[in-house]
Amino acid sequence: MRTVLHWFRRDFRVRDNTALAAACRSGDSVVAVFCIDTRWFTASTGKTGAYQAAFWLKSLRELSAALVDLNIPLKILTTTDPVQAILALAKRLNVRTITLNKEYEPAQIAQDQRLVREAEKMGIDIKSFKDAVIFETFEVLTGTDNPYTIFSPYKRAWLAKLGQSSLQSAGLAAKSAVIPLAADPIPDPESLGYPAVTLPIAPGECAGAALLQTFTDTKIGLYHKERDIPARPGVSQLSAHLAAGTVSIRQCVAAAVNQGALAGNGGAETWLSELIWREFYRMVLFHYPHTCHSGFQKKYERLTWENNPELIAAWGNARTGYPIVDAAIRQIQQTGWMHNRLRMITAMFLTKDLDTHWRIGEQLFMQWLMDYDQASNVGGWQWSAGTGTDAAPYFRVMNPILQAQRFDLAGTFVKRYLPELANVPEDFIHTPWEMPPLLQSQCGCIIGQDYPTRIVDHAAARIKAIAKFRG
Ligand SMILES: Cc1cc2nc3c(=O)[nH]c(=O)nc-3n(C[C@H](O)[C@H](O)[C@H](O)COP(=O)(O)OP(=O)(O)OC[C@H]3O[C@@H](n4cnc5c(N)ncnc54)[C@H](O)[C@@H]3O)c2cc1C
Repeated sequence: MRTVLHWFRRDFRVRDNTALAAACRSGDSVVAVFCIDTRWFTASTGKTGAYQAAFWLKSLRELSAALVDLNIPLKILTTTDPVQAILALAKRLNVRTITLNKEYEPAQIAQDQRLVREAEKMGIDIKSFKDAVIFETFEVLTGTDNPYTIFSPYKRAWLAKLGQSSLQSAGLAAKSAVIPLAADPIPDPESLGYPAVTLPIAPGECAGAALLQTFTDTKIGLYHKERDIPARPGVSQLSAHLAAGTVSIRQCVAAAVNQGALAGNGGAETWLSELIWREFYRMVLFHYPHTCHSGFQKKYERLTWENNPELIAAWGNARTGYPIVDAAIRQIQQTGWMHNRLRMITAMFLTKDLDTHWRIGEQLFMQWLMDYDQASNVGGWQWSAGTGTDAAPYFRVMNPILQAQRFDLAGTFVKRYLPELANVPEDFIHTPWEMPPLLQSQCGCIIGQDYPTRIVDHAAARIKAIAKFRG
């Protein structure tokens, strides 16, 4: 009996897992493995953060139990060199085939290329599968066979290509032949140096499926109307599941289509569009790997950024004096998730108002987010900074006051995360620095004492930012 090794990376599920299903179809015994890459996945590296680590490890625990039912032991390797560790395990188990689902980030691609080279020398076959996307990076191209760099035509071409076969599920992985090998225990986040955190949504494949079901049953129809209001539960919160692969992209797109995304249901249509953004950013990062550290638009690489440590610290400590920005930062730090509208507002504020390079914010979000995904994070930051593919033009600088008044008029969201502003009247909730001194003492919020004075004047900062870009 031969043994196939399946390497789990960001596909923590037994249903609709293309590579795992293929491994199980082989009729051989299957062993699964996950690598804790300590260059990324420990608290001291400052990379994978506490929320994502907790979400992943708890999801892996559920996955390991589900795999036992399929006779597949999940091994855990803790290493600084996953390729070497995987191949050593493969050698020990006399494995001839390793299955994996494709990844699209530059560092992962380089690692997989090395795996293929080294495995070949050992006579091991690497079988990699399309799984995390509906369409491969080369499947949706312009008429001249180039990658799209603007979202709208990409989306049109993507939709035109979508057919029944694109959503074909790999089903539940079949039971494999029994192998006398025990699963390894899944470490606690604390053993990797992470502080204990409370996840805002339940991890694991079962919870992911339930969340998708609830969203499509009760919220998707109103998604286009509710999705920009951070105080309301109008979005799916499936991002951490999509990033860990506890929910598959096919399950999500199929759910959107079933709810009328292609037949004029506004909510489902808009939600599908967001899923296409995810794929667009993967495609962009794949074709333009330099964008993970430098701007897509080379003309803006000449710009210099103030990167003032005090201002960056004020932003990161929720002490900018702009309630919508500070409440958003508290949301991400207290839950590991931030509403999309607030990601845009805070990212624009850091890059434009505080004159900070987008890469600094991108790295902080990496540590804070439970749904961190390099392609989407880089894409979102570059969009906000005005340096990306389909970026907001540099002269469009979000006004945090107007944004707050538009999407959180009564300050419901702001007050949820900034209890110090609980008694500030609605008229001043987004501009507390304008409160007369008497009112400040009446509502128990002295500006500069109970809540910070604003660290920058948005109107002046906006003019400066636009002038800088104009050159
Ligand atoms: C500065 C910035 C940083 C971001 N960093 C990340 C990140 O690290 N990981 C991440 O998954 N998303 C990121 N996003 C995109 C978006 O904010 C989140 O995907 C979304 O808020 C997640 O909440 P949700 O699952 O409720 O989304 P929903 O509104 O329910 O959307 C469904 C799914 O579509 C995808 N999606 C939605 N909006 C976007 C978008 N603008 N770009 C790409 N995919 C999208 C996500 O997978 C999301 O789960 C970032 C956006 C910005 C502006």
